[in-house]
Amino acid sequence: MAKVASLDDLQELIKTAEQKISLSSNLKELNDYKLEYITGKKSLLNRLTQGLKNLTESEKKSYGQEINAAKETLNSAIKGAEERIHRNYDEEGEWFDVSLPVPKAPIGHMAPDTQVIRQMNAFFTYHGYSVAEGPEIETDEYNFEKTNLPKDHPARDLQDTIYIESPEVLLRTHTSSVETRILSSHKPPLRFVVPGVSFRNEIINQSNHAIFYQYQGVLVDKDVSLANLKATLNEFAKFLYGDKVKTRFRTKYYPEVEPGAGMDILCRFCSGTGCRICKDRGWIEILGSGIIHRNLLAKSGIDWKVWSGFAFGMGLDRIIMTKFGITDIRDLHSGNLVFTQ
Ligand SMILES: [Zn+2]
Repeated sequence: MAKVASLDDLQELIKTAEQKISLSSNLKELNDYKLEYITGKKSLLNRLTQGLKNLTESEKKSYGQEINAAKETLNSAIKGAEERIHRNYDEEGEWFDVSLPVPKAPIGHMAPDTQVIRQMNAFFTYHGYSVAEGPEIETDEYNFEKTNLPKDHPARDLQDTIYIESPEVLLRTHTSSVETRILSSHKPPLRFVVPGVSFRNEIINQSNHAIFYQYQGVLVDKDVSLANLKATLNEFAKFLYGDKVKTRFRTKYYPEVEPGAGMDILCRFCSGTGCRICKDRGWIEILGSGIIHRNLLAKSGIDWKVWSGFAFGMGLDRIIMTKFGITDIRDLHSGNLVFTQ
């Protein structure tokens, strides 16, 4: 095309080129159009520019302006097409369909403590227990007095309590406060478990925290004996650690119960011969339990001559950490998504 016939023809040519560029579906096609219309030696723009020399001065002026405008139009069409095509490519340059549904974004999972608590709740609700909860800010009455820990009781010294308003309002030091609340407000027979956090004034480091998880269980009925307690806890140990678990009960002192018993499981790491994990004892204590003290029942308004019951409680932190391979207790409160089962 040494000479362009008319401005109308020129505009028509540019319009067609612009349309083709806009409809190009991949980068190769777009590149070909770029060569054909703009940058190639024999491109449309080049040929039009060369054709200028055969024109009169006045024709040159109007054609020149038209060609400049065409150049702009085509370049912006290329740019638009490039952006559109790039949107259809992933980071590796592979084409993909932008209209496909987007895969669901990861939104996290239940915290390890919630998972363990729900598993335990499943076991106990199957055996007829309800799941109870209570306030974390508690009064001295429910946290200490009613759990058989009067103000002058030496066992109070074992717990370094965090007070909100000393001496009456505090952060509960154990979930037994929920036990005394429920025993004070409900009539037996009763069966319930209480999962939840408790608080003590501890220096926070890798293995100690001021916030710790507890799991408490209570049963009040007629003629409840130690045999019922042992049977329940042995079943629970099997649920937690498998059918081959070996347990033993040792006499222990807890103010809320009489008699009190600690339940140990045979160390799974050394099978009883002694190792670092069990501190050479061969056994690992996992919970404390006992027959509910008659004083506790009496203080909650339950006639201990008619009703009896057992209670057990355990710290959950070590169980959760072992299960999930968590080595730093602070991670239990960090929301770190790394810890999955
Ligand atoms: Zn061991």
